[in-house]
Amino acid sequence: MRFGIRTLDDVAVQGKTVLCRVDINQPVDRKNGKLKSINRILACVPTIQELSDKGAKVVLMAHQGSDIEYKNFYTTKPHAAVLSQALGREVKWIDDVCGPAARQCIRELQDGEILLLDNVRFVSEEQTLFETKLRLSHEEQAKTLLVEKLAPLGDLYVCDAFAAAHRDQPSLCGFEQVLPSAMGRLFEKEFCTVSQIMEDPQRPCVFVLGGAKIADAFLMMQTVLDRGVADRILTGGLVANIFLISQGRAIGQGSLDFILKSNYGEFIEKAGALYARYGEKITLPVDLAWVADGCREEAPISAIPETIGAVDIGTRTAQLYRDAILGARTVFINGPMGVFEQEPSAYGTQAVWQALAETEGFTVLGGGDSITATEKYQLTDQMGYICTGGGALIRFLSGEELPVVRALRHGAQIPD
Ligand code: ADP
Ligand code: MG
Repeated sequence: MRFGIRTLDDVAVQGKTVLCRVDINQPVDRKNGKLKSINRILACVPTIQELSDKGAKVVLMAHQGSDIEYKNFYTTKPHAAVLSQALGREVKWIDDVCGPAARQCIRELQDGEILLLDNVRFVSEEQTLFETKLRLSHEEQAKTLLVEKLAPLGDLYVCDAFAAAHRDQPSLCGFEQVLPSAMGRLFEKEFCTVSQIMEDPQRPCVFVLGGAKIADAFLMMQTVLDRGVADRILTGGLVANIFLISQGRAIGQGSLDFILKSNYGEFIEKAGALYARYGEKITLPVDLAWVADGCREEAPISAIPETIGAVDIGTRTAQLYRDAILGARTVFINGPMGVFEQEPSAYGTQAVWQALAETEGFTVLGGGDSITATEKYQLTDQMGYICTGGGALIRFLSGEELPVVRALRHGAQIPD
């Protein structure tokens, strides 16, 4: 047991049917059904392999794509092929989630065999609107179609989907009400890593926060400062621009317009309040960069031209951040320092990411664009830990008990 949740060390799985929720959601090209990335699929291989090696009948449940943006919404069939390849053993697949065909397939599984069900979001109760509009309790989730049809066939529920741990849906929180439950190896690794940072980080503990997810960033800053987790916060991206404006610094009309246009105006006041209380821990850029006629230009904060829109931290700031990162023992990173997708505004992110790769401190990085930047600069192997879950990670660091963590603690009480 860790943090009140069973691990795979606490359960016997030989000969049992294990319903295992994974997060193998990947970008997909719908035209040819090819997955554009497979990192999440590979990340849950250890759990699946362990369950299969120990003689479990493994039933995998997963979602693919967003039902709200209707993006990447697709079958899980290509994932089964990738898993088969990675595991070196057959992963069966069926184009059904919990209907008679899927249930028959589950009943026919032999010890050690693996079956991947189709996209659980093909079932209405797994959709995001269902979650947000109906807000079912975990007890109610246990009475949904998915859980009522599949749970009687299972002996144990395993959740390995930390990346989806902030979601409150039957495949994630319903089974723990009726089946003994445990977390998988990936979930265990990710959850324990971030719990360690929240509870007892090696110090100095530095947060590097940039990017454009402002509401999340502010909630997280408030929590890690109030709890004394962060010794220092280095700001970049839009987060930095909002702080600078809150301090009355003139950083160009374009910078302000972008913030107001993005409806982040209210955060200027919030930034002011946070800075008034924790100013000595919050580091703001000393220079900024913008792009004019396709070329990068920079100036110290006191000399920013009136009209520009700042899209990166400046060279001196990058150097200061580099020093702070090299001196840290824990570094948490979310959000790039600038619009790194374009070359003239990529410098700050690249320089800071290089420091992340070099520091002796333990680095934890999360967020889709932050991971993209890491891959772009080929630094993936040099990060301490890259979290597969962006949303879950940020919600966790904002101090919220994640729905799946709560459910797994409940499922730990059910005898196996
Ligand atoms: P992550 O996906 O790592 O959590 P975010 O989604 O919060 O990060 O932010 C990434 C986006 O923020 C990138 O697309 C980047 O171009 C944008 N961005 C970074 N700095 C700025 C800036 N100063 N102004 C506008 N957008 C920015
Ligand atoms: Mg992003």
